[in-house]
Amino acid sequence: MSDFFLATGNKHKIKEVLSLTPEINWKTITDFPKLKKFSPKETGKTFAENAEIKARAFAKKTGKITVAEDSGLSVQALDGSPGVHSARWVKGSDSKRNTALLKKLDGYNNKRAKYVATICLYVPDIDEVSSIKGLKKDSVTFFSGEVHGFIAMEPKGDKGFGYDPIFIPNGYEKTFGELGDKVKQKISHRRDAFEKFVKFLESDK
Ligand code: IMP
Repeated sequence: MSDFFLATGNKHKIKEVLSLTPEINWKTITDFPKLKKFSPKETGKTFAENAEIKARAFAKKTGKITVAEDSGLSVQALDGSPGVHSARWVKGSDSKRNTALLKKLDGYNNKRAKYVATICLYVPDIDEVSSIKGLKKDSVTFFSGEVHGFIAMEPKGDKGFGYDPIFIPNGYEKTFGELGDKVKQKISHRRDAFEKFVKFLESDK
């Protein structure tokens, strides 16, 4: 199988993706240290648009078939916010954003939320890149995953990252921050999306 560049500087995402997809020969930011600070502007209105922006921008730099993932937390009572703005809607730490979100949800009975991850697979238009799965050069293919749950009353647990200390997946009574990697890797939005990606690569279509 070809190797793929995983277009993210987020070490938590890299760790999760590498452990979810042992069959893939990933190149990461460690193989391209000059790109450590490279961070394309995520101006898209959807996860797919942002994933495509990142995939194209990194592919231009690396010349590799590139996979970028854009993800976030979508809260029902807040009309889907923070959504694509999950990483940035409050400046500062993850814990600041968690506190701000709990404050926003104060007084709402509906605590339903979901994590969404959308992957963009981009095959660049470069001679050295051999096409995969019959995909044309300069083409994008998307895979999406979700996990549904609700927002906790207070942050709990120190595992994972981002909103994990305040996200309780359906069927559990603990947050991803408490449940840890083993459970998260079985049911997460990232798992769902990357499973679809791997199935696509393995199918003989
Ligand atoms: P991105 O780098 O623009 O895709 O940012 C995604 C943001 O969404 C992260 O910085 C987190 O705030 C949030 N997020 C996405 N996936 C997860 C997850 O698995 N756990 C916790 N937070 C997540």
